[in-house]
Amino acid sequence: MIQTASAPSTSERYRAITRHTIHRLPQWETLDPELRDAIGIVSHVLPFRVNRYVVDELIDWDRVPDDPIFKLTFPQREMLGDDEFNEVADLVRGEAGREEIRSVVDRIRLGLNPHPAGQMTHNVPELDGKRLEGMQHKYRETLLFFPARGQTCHAYCTYCFRWAQFVGMPEFKFEARESEELVAFLKAHPEITDILVTGGDPMIMKTRMLRDYLAPLLSEELDHVRTIRIGSKSPAYWPQRFVTDDDADDALRFFEEVVESGKHLALMGHFSHPVEIRTPMAQRALRRIRATGAEVRMQAPLIRHVNDDAQAWVDLWTEGVQQGLVPYYMFVERDTGAKNYFEVPLARALEVFQDAFRQVSGLGRTVRGPSMSAHPGKVRVLGTTRIQGEKLFVLDFLQARNPAWVGRPFFAAFDPDATWLNHLRPALGRDRFFFQDELEEITVSEAGILPVMSA
Ligand SMILES: *Cc1c(COP(=O)(O)O)cnc(C)c1O
Ligand code: SF4
Repeated sequence: MIQTASAPSTSERYRAITRHTIHRLPQWETLDPELRDAIGIVSHVLPFRVNRYVVDELIDWDRVPDDPIFKLTFPQREMLGDDEFNEVADLVRGEAGREEIRSVVDRIRLGLNPHPAGQMTHNVPELDGKRLEGMQHKYRETLLFFPARGQTCHAYCTYCFRWAQFVGMPEFKFEARESEELVAFLKAHPEITDILVTGGDPMIMKTRMLRDYLAPLLSEELDHVRTIRIGSKSPAYWPQRFVTDDDADDALRFFEEVVESGKHLALMGHFSHPVEIRTPMAQRALRRIRATGAEVRMQAPLIRHVNDDAQAWVDLWTEGVQQGLVPYYMFVERDTGAKNYFEVPLARALEVFQDAFRQVSGLGRTVRGPSMSAHPGKVRVLGTTRIQGEKLFVLDFLQARNPAWVGRPFFAAFDPDATWLNHLRPALGRDRFFFQDELEEITVSEAGILPVMSA
């Protein structure tokens, strides 16, 4: 059983800090005025939210502006192009009206590919002719579920590919209102073994609400659903959720119930940097989650300025394994938002991955990557090689629209600058990748539109 948390070291309640309240932070005054100005301007366009835990426990203010968690959560000047930045800056400094700022900001946002990977047109499942907007079914065995009330986070990552929904571009919002639809869809799809509840961060919800969504999945009729995964960055951004929040114990009790029902419960923890698992509060949260019988896996994208060095990953994976966490995915940053600021060439991502992978024991090598979540599937860069004098990337699918594509190595011409799948060209005299014809067939028949390789 879960032990009730002993007297909390901090009894603080969660409070979001945003553009409007940031000036109240004691640390705000210590920042360079130019930096403060840039944060104020960029946060008109990109989402910004932190909290006292992130600010006080994760950011080392002596290292700002280079501190990785500062880069992860605070908007930076270079995240916008010069023209966009200046345009917004002029409006803000000239005290332009809300409406005027809003229309410029909206245009800039639309230019930042707010919804990558064909998510709006593909992958939305149907039941009895009705589109189920809060779900995505892209890979046969796994259903993604976006509960309506879990569409925000305890802090925002500046690179987030879900950023559009945080800034209120409602046409880009995924969310499910009802769990009845979820249950009905699952009953009709016995091939689905895994449900991945995602957001935002589902752990932003009160336990009562989380339970409303998930308890129906424990019924015997849904025995084919063997795994419930919860995608969450709460252990990193607000570990109090599992320790001192009012309903922390209730959440853990519910986790126990899921485990006792015979299903596998996995918290898919989004961990960007080892500092996130070093605080006493985070370590208590992780111990308490694991004590319920749930597993905690670790995944994150490789982000320039945040974690683009092998040592960060070595530390994350070894210290994570020490705490009983399971390294799972390293992703390549997606083609959205401030991508130019964060992106790392595939060749460099591979180097960081391999360098780190080679330094950890077998228990850390459960991690797979670097992986691109692209339109055809999750494509991993396995390595580089040379065949008949040609330098090549070796790639494979970790997940694919057609499961038959998984695990079949294929080649692309080596390109030191490529940062995404759509930059890669087939190699060895071929003009198509092996999956391209079939991908076009699948996508045209699914959505009645032409597929885009990039997405
Ligand atoms: C990554 C992902 C999943 C889960 O894939 P696993 O390889 O089983 O972790 C499911 N659906 C979508 C759309 C995904 O991107
Ligand atoms: S935790 Fe995930 S969903 Fe939330 S802001 Fe970060 S990347 Fe986006």
